[in-house]
Amino acid sequence: MVKTLVIIKPDAVKSKHIGDIISIYENNGLSIENMKMMYANEELLKKHYEEHIDKSFYPSLVEFMLSGKIVVMEIMGEDAVDKVREINGVTDSTKAEKGTVRNLYGSDIQKNAVHGSADIIDANRELNIWFK
Ligand code: AMP
Repeated sequence: MVKTLVIIKPDAVKSKHIGDIISIYENNGLSIENMKMMYANEELLKKHYEEHIDKSFYPSLVEFMLSGKIVVMEIMGEDAVDKVREINGVTDSTKAEKGTVRNLYGSDIQKNAVHGSADIIDANRELNIWFK
């Protein structure tokens, strides 16, 4: 059993798909271990997106992530990190496989409905940021 971090981003919260998205994870055998609805802040985002701070899209990414409430979840299950990534689909919603969360509820590379940790190391790092 491993744990991973999922964030339902402001676009999917605004379009009222929190329940739909959580159901997809649960229907795939994953468990929601911890969950909270909140506004992000610049300090948390700076830690969470540390590898992107120097990228050209970072200011716009921060603006988007601060544009509304988010839902932060600790999800557990067998192979949970990879399973969540498969369920979410690729980063760019316009290229995400049919039936994935980003295909269903995202709209582009930035407004892509959800975040899922890249690997187990990142999952532990990110869980410590959002649930410390
Ligand atoms: P990742 O570390 O892959 O989760 O990327 C972080 C987030 O940054 C993605 O989920 C997107 O919302 C955003 N992002 C990644 N690449 C781009 C890009 N080329 N242009 C705009 N936003 C991006």
